[in-house]
Amino acid sequence: MAVQALYRKWRPQTFDEVVGQEHIICTLRNALTSGRIHHAYLFAGPRGTGKTTSARLLAKAVNCLAPEEQRPCNECAICRAVNERRLLDLIEIDAASNTGVDDVRELRERVGFRPNEARYKVYVIDEVHMLSNAAFNALLKTLEEPPPHAIFVLATTRPDKIPDTVLSRCQRHDFRRISLEKIVARLEWLAEQEHIQADREALTLVARQATGSMRDAESLLDQLASYGNAGITAVEVRSALGTGASETVLQVTDALAEGDVAQGLGAINAAMDEGADPRQFARQMVEHLRALLLLRLKSDVMLGHASDDLRPRLETQANAFSARALAQAVKLFNQAAAESKGGWQPQLPLEMAFIEAALPPEAGSPGSPNQSTPANPRTPPPARHSTSSPPKPRSASARSTSPTSSPAPRAAREPAVAYDVPTPGDSSLTPDALRNRWSELLNALRPRNLSLEALMHSCEPMAVEGNIVVLGFTHQFHRSKVEEERNKQVVEEVLSDLLGQRYRVRCILAANKQLFGKTQNPAPTVSRKMKDTEGVLGAQQERTALDTKPTLSAEQIIADDPLVRAAIEELGAQVVQR
Ligand SMILES: [Zn+2]
Repeated sequence: MAVQALYRKWRPQTFDEVVGQEHIICTLRNALTSGRIHHAYLFAGPRGTGKTTSARLLAKAVNCLAPEEQRPCNECAICRAVNERRLLDLIEIDAASNTGVDDVRELRERVGFRPNEARYKVYVIDEVHMLSNAAFNALLKTLEEPPPHAIFVLATTRPDKIPDTVLSRCQRHDFRRISLEKIVARLEWLAEQEHIQADREALTLVARQATGSMRDAESLLDQLASYGNAGITAVEVRSALGTGASETVLQVTDALAEGDVAQGLGAINAAMDEGADPRQFARQMVEHLRALLLLRLKSDVMLGHASDDLRPRLETQANAFSARALAQAVKLFNQAAAESKGGWQPQLPLEMAFIEAALPPEAGSPGSPNQSTPANPRTPPPARHSTSSPPKPRSASARSTSPTSSPAPRAAREPAVAYDVPTPGDSSLTPDALRNRWSELLNALRPRNLSLEALMHSCEPMAVEGNIVVLGFTHQFHRSKVEEERNKQVVEEVLSDLLGQRYRVRCILAANKQLFGKTQNPAPTVSRKMKDTEGVLGAQQERTALDTKPTLSAEQIIADDPLVRAAIEELGAQVVQR
């Protein structure tokens, strides 16, 4: 886990390093040098082709402190802050995540405020097509009258799902799949940097597998490099993903043709157990089924991924399906391949795609069931044929029916009305003033939610933007816990009570050194009895004590970790010495 993924480690830091998107980079560069910067960009294109990377480069370049032609310089304070992912004015929103909708709502509230440290506030909204209609409307209002200091970069793999009204406000750039040669060249360079022995044939196979996605190619190289240190050869690559994988693809396709759900799921699970990547596998299925479809339609198809001796078997498979069934299966596996990364059960979308493709269509839905992408990407498409009760996939069975996976409609969490306009808030509130009252906040939180109080020890107010308090966390885990809808609401209520005015919070990840005088979480020793006497003075004394950074013993450090404390206090956990 400590090892940084290759694609992150070597993410391009300058425009020159972006591979395969010269047409876009050239336009962006010209805009930068001529000072003609748009307020809204749409970066569209397949995954792993450099959209987010280019968005960050743009954020860096428009804010860089170096002379125009040198931007981004990667040396000034702004560039460094972006590279270390701690620039307050670069706000990245993942529209596919649970917090994406709230983030867009807040965007409208805080977009009017001037940047904290940079020239421009840059909002990068990833997977923007996942936004709900209400969120798109809110976004549109902002795009119609963007403040001069704001730049929006909307990134998407599905530009077709973005409302025209939003599209028309954006300068659009289409990212292309990256050519095989360019991917191979980049992989060769990477292998050299990382001292990975890999022959050209092996890298070509890796590149071909990635089908134009640089990120996939780099991840694959990463995986292969971690298998052993003797170097990567074509034979190894083939055995890791080539012949083995395509044999499974053939088996799964046979099972599909026969409607044998148990056999298909068994083959999928066996492949996953051997370390295959679910999305990669889904893509192989798409490629294969698409080839079968073309074959079925008597199109003069090049079966690039299959050797000649396989051709008879492929023809047999192609003829076992109707063209419609194949088209439907391509669609289903394609959805599984595009499913947002991670998730709590990564192979579930793949399994569900197989089950849906394998089962006959229900009466009344002749052959063309509505297969638009589900509203919530985290929620797998429900099995529509429950009566057939297919054997459940081993690992997914119990949880896939648990309440946690029942669809949580976005709309329910989201008001359909336009969001509040920014209110000026109490302009006298500063992060410092808030810091001085932090222990009051913690004390007020304690009776509401003990573990939340513990979590709030691990953050500090970083900025106040109108009625939004920006909280900086050093750990992503702590941040995401506090960001959970319920927790955030409690914090906001307590904060608003304390300050006598409505405040909302925004949680960000801050570098350790950005937090004032705090290398460890403050010792949670402020007793409740102190509450009455503890005013600004008391809090300041506490802070002064913290600033001296006492050396803590290992036990203290462990005991001070908010989550450990919560576990001890709520669950009766004990710190065990090893
Ligand atoms: Zn710079």
